[in-house]
Amino acid sequence: MADERLQAALSDATDRLRDRRAQAFAEFPEGERLRDRARQIKRHTIDTLDTQLSLLAERFEAVGGVVHWAEDAARAKEVILGLATERKAKLAVKSKSMTTEELGLADALSDAGITPLETDLGEYIIQIAGETPSHIIVPAIHKTFDDVADLLEEKHGTARCEEHQAITQEARDRLRSSFLEADLGISGVNFAVAETGSLVIVENEGNARLSTSLPRCHIAVMGMEKVVPDLEAVSVFLRILARSATGQKMSSYVSVITGPRRSGEEDGPDELHLVIVDNGRSKLLADRALRESLYCIRCGACLNICPVYRHAGGHAYGWVYPGPIGSVINPTLLGPERAAPLPFASSLCGACRDVCPVRINLPHLLLHQRDAVVRASSTARIPGRSGFKGWVERSLVRAYARVMRSERLYGRAGRLARGIGARFASGGRIRRAPGLGAWMSTRDFPEPPKKSFRERWEEK
Ligand code: SF4
Repeated sequence: MADERLQAALSDATDRLRDRRAQAFAEFPEGERLRDRARQIKRHTIDTLDTQLSLLAERFEAVGGVVHWAEDAARAKEVILGLATERKAKLAVKSKSMTTEELGLADALSDAGITPLETDLGEYIIQIAGETPSHIIVPAIHKTFDDVADLLEEKHGTARCEEHQAITQEARDRLRSSFLEADLGISGVNFAVAETGSLVIVENEGNARLSTSLPRCHIAVMGMEKVVPDLEAVSVFLRILARSATGQKMSSYVSVITGPRRSGEEDGPDELHLVIVDNGRSKLLADRALRESLYCIRCGACLNICPVYRHAGGHAYGWVYPGPIGSVINPTLLGPERAAPLPFASSLCGACRDVCPVRINLPHLLLHQRDAVVRASSTARIPGRSGFKGWVERSLVRAYARVMRSERLYGRAGRLARGIGARFASGGRIRRAPGLGAWMSTRDFPEPPKKSFRERWEEK
């Protein structure tokens, strides 16, 4: 919060993305109907996930691919490292993939003596900086132009770039030959089409297309929720994904990969593998409320609009999925001991729900996770209140509900709060109150008015 460079980088980029998204949908009357349709498709697909995945596996293998199932990150890495070592791979080019970030695949490859090279510009910057992404679609969003120019000058030992184009060109020059030298291409998947066994990859730089077509072996990695029934569904998502993410009508490149290279074809890998990862998603699926989080198409719109994310940045969330969607899924995927505070770090303003292209009710899911965290442990610590116990939280909420349901109690509570508030106010704000020291260390309140709205109304 105190890092002014981070604040500047974040608000510049998120403001720009948010405004572009708003403009893109304002000029696209069909957009609202497509969002409804996208939600319908997702609901149907997730409700029939086992059937959709079986069909995908069958069709994917029918067109020459090989499917691998991974119940967790360890198994997924074992499969990928097994394929890599069997092929004596030394260099793997990677296109942007949140799922491989989730698995910690780059470190696993490095440990096995295989160089993983990120080829998306943002991911490449993060990789040479030795950092992790801080946004779903703009991994280096926390860096300013000057940060990146300094970094490239230091790591490449070349003249400092003075404009954006020069940065892109320098990274491109470094990466080009690697596509030809790589033994493996590793990619994520935006949509996997059950009907045709095709993989759809959406990007803006063309690096995914090179990573998946030049090396002899392509390994695609997807979370199991990425399956969609057919190409009609893909056409719906494509029209709202780029608009939600960057405000573009369509991404610059959409690759539809159906099987490995066939005889007579010039491009494409000899082998195509698909690793379908669960890694906790079954737990989301089993929870009737949280199941909705599997509708997410990872556009990042909820991050760009979220007042908490825009100030805290992605690294504050402690894992690869930041922002409102991260706060919903991380406690289930990582376990409450690592992510319990996240659902509480939200203003519940509802802006994330309003922009989500598949209309995920994120505030509702955040409340659901808060409830789950508090219920999970009677000793659950509520962020900002040192030593506060789950049962105290529940008692307070019950008391609050009682007061809010009774006009008489509400009036009395208001008078009491105004009386107490006036005692602790100074300069128009309340900055301390007994028993709320830790909670108020990062918050304050406006001084309550002398009279309630109702009292003033009656005096008129
Ligand atoms: S929850 Fe919705 S807005 Fe957020 S990343 Fe997923 S699809 Fe986009």
